[in-house]
Amino acid sequence: MEQENKINPFEDENPFEAEGFSEVKNDTAVTKCPACGANMVYLPGENCLYCEHCGTKQEIHSKSSEEMAFERLLKENNTWADETHVFRCENCGAKEVLDKNEFAKTCSFCGTTNIVETDELSGIKPNAIVPFKLSKDDACGIVKKWARKKLFAPKKFKKSVTPEDVKGVYNPAFSFDTATFSRYNGVLGKYYYRTRRVNGKTVQERYIKYFNVSGDYSMFFDDVLIQASTIINQKSLNKLQPFNTNDSNEYAQEFLSGFTASQYTKDGISCWEEAKVLIRQKLRSAILSQYTYDVVSSFNVSTECNNITYKYLLLPIYVGHCNWRKKLYNFFVNGFNGKVTGKTPVSPLKVFITVVVGLAVVSALGFLYSFFGG
Ligand SMILES: [Zn+2]
Ligand SMILES: [Zn+2]
Repeated sequence: MEQENKINPFEDENPFEAEGFSEVKNDTAVTKCPACGANMVYLPGENCLYCEHCGTKQEIHSKSSEEMAFERLLKENNTWADETHVFRCENCGAKEVLDKNEFAKTCSFCGTTNIVETDELSGIKPNAIVPFKLSKDDACGIVKKWARKKLFAPKKFKKSVTPEDVKGVYNPAFSFDTATFSRYNGVLGKYYYRTRRVNGKTVQERYIKYFNVSGDYSMFFDDVLIQASTIINQKSLNKLQPFNTNDSNEYAQEFLSGFTASQYTKDGISCWEEAKVLIRQKLRSAILSQYTYDVVSSFNVSTECNNITYKYLLLPIYVGHCNWRKKLYNFFVNGFNGKVTGKTPVSPLKVFITVVVGLAVVSALGFLYSFFGG
């Protein structure tokens, strides 16, 4: 492995020297193929386990997921540690949760083999999952098409683009539902203008007319989604949305077979605090949108969140990279709907030409305007 070629998703952390990874024995029962005894893996799109050795399929019995009452989150002790263990990448710091029977060999995020098992806990057990629907091959095909459409990517890169080390990684997230009731009051202002003659010239002057607003507002929030892991930044995740959280399945361990999950870095209560910020922002703009105004002088909203329910979900994301001139470019693919986000190399020549052409167009328009219009 060439360390210097690997990407580091956390920019301010330095890569460590490679040390290999430790393997730990365990004796938990794996889902073995009933026909040949090999380990089975989850087959995307078919809700079943699959034997890569002999092709046997076994259906996973999982209902659609249910919303959990918020009170449960406060005393949740349904541990995931019996079924999983946590690995840490010494190169980039990513932490991944694997089925007890599986061992991480390379890091899904930076591709190095510098992975160690930790004694950290995987936290509470997810109660819902959006299973992978697309296969790894589907994801690779989608990435190739996406890269070819990149305007500033070098031509040779587009022709030869090959997604490498593509892995299915579940990203943990909390989704919240709540029925909100708000009381609000405030002072809004609307502009109006008056013209006046000053020293023989007409001048327009702007004034503000203030008015009071107050009232009640009810709004139901469905599946406010908050990421519980920071390994993929929120901006990239927003580009991959939506994740169909309303059609999620009840979590079953079989879904993790052959896949990994990112370890959560935020617990349910901190995610709920973030959700409340989002909810407040949405309520504020929903209430204000009922009025015609130009300025907000003061505005207060007090909100009750009733019937709060949550799901602790795993969201399907393919993670991989493309190699171009010994540099790696990370990409992420939504394993449910195929949306892609990521980086590709940029051809300086293409950018230069575009800037020159752009400037030429602007100055040509300027010339035409001064010639004909001005
Ligand atoms: Zn088999
Ligand atoms: Zn890593």
